[in-house]
Amino acid sequence: MNIKINENFNHLAQNYLFSEIAKRVKAYTEKNPDAKIIRMGIGDVTRPLCPHVVSAMKNAVEEMGKAESFRGYPPEYGYDFLREAIAAHYASFGVTVAAGDIFVSDGAKSDCGNIVDIFGDNTIYIPDPVYPVYMDSNIMSGRTIKLIPATVENGFLPMPKADFTTGVYYLCSPNNPTGAAYSAEQLQTWVDFALDTGSVILFDAAYEAFVSDDSPRSIYAVPGAEKCAIEFASFSKTAGFTGTRCGYTVVPAALKAGDTPLQALWARRQATKFNGVSYPVQRAAEAAYSQEGLAQCMENISYYMNNAALMAELMREKGIFFTGGKNSPYVWFKCPNGMDSWSFFDKLLTEAQVVGTPGAGFGACGEGFFRLSSFNSLENTKEAVERLRGIL
Ligand code: PLP
Repeated sequence: MNIKINENFNHLAQNYLFSEIAKRVKAYTEKNPDAKIIRMGIGDVTRPLCPHVVSAMKNAVEEMGKAESFRGYPPEYGYDFLREAIAAHYASFGVTVAAGDIFVSDGAKSDCGNIVDIFGDNTIYIPDPVYPVYMDSNIMSGRTIKLIPATVENGFLPMPKADFTTGVYYLCSPNNPTGAAYSAEQLQTWVDFALDTGSVILFDAAYEAFVSDDSPRSIYAVPGAEKCAIEFASFSKTAGFTGTRCGYTVVPAALKAGDTPLQALWARRQATKFNGVSYPVQRAAEAAYSQEGLAQCMENISYYMNNAALMAELMREKGIFFTGGKNSPYVWFKCPNGMDSWSFFDKLLTEAQVVGTPGAGFGACGEGFFRLSSFNSLENTKEAVERLRGIL
């Protein structure tokens, strides 16, 4: 074939993190077939959908099976019932977002990646360590990327620096992988910086439901954010929709580049390349944000948060630096004795039969750190904490 490919794909780093983990675990279990491995690296939920959500989805499927209530293509930006339920969800924690500014999608991953379509050749600022989608989608589009180091010194919550220029800034709070969450004051500094420099913030709030202190659950809790920020959110972690697929992006009408409303560009992008989320899934999502549904979903979140608190308690007991453990399903900690993150991975696997995620897999600044996830059963978490206690 003589066609030209998108050469930018050649610049993507090999994403060997999860395959390398699988390879090492397989090699270990082949040698130690009786070992009871506990997987604390999971970034996926494990608790089932809530009964209220399941029943809404079932009812919607029944509707689709009857001529009088059958529905074809959904509206490109989401059914009004769901956009309004999402706006009401924001209102429930004191944030005003107009239903018309909400774009329903099949999840935050797609939107974080697809948003690149609406921007020209800007400098893209991405924190390190990071959820890899921000990096890879910008590399695929050949964008100029600058990394913002997240370190022990800044508590893994980097702030604007004097040499940062006008650009597109990705922020994720509560953060994957570090679990750290920005305070309102810190987000206000970011918003003021973006307004001063004419920059845009792309704010990933996929873990907002885990916020348990007064950290903002949305960037729109901060005055001025509607003029400089786009927000991604998702039912994946809040309502266990990782396999059901539904998320949303907020592009406020007030957000403009010069005279051009970014909302018009995103609306056009979605209408061109996306055909909506299925009716049963949108009804299920609506149910997740109803009073009854959310109460059930929050039981699952509390379950995970209890696991996270057990891990955080161990770090405190051992005097190990960590972030997360509250506001997040993740605990991010410094590997003991200056170990690098893959060596610690091997130690944990071979000495405690616990699998976690080496921080180096999320970026150079993740080297020397390790992520444990609370998406597991209480029994497994307790057992993993006991085993960790023995080797930390
Ligand atoms: N954003 C962050 C920070 C995530 O960790 C994840 C999933 O792990 C996503 C977005 C993707 O969410 P979704 O399942 O809605 O695509």
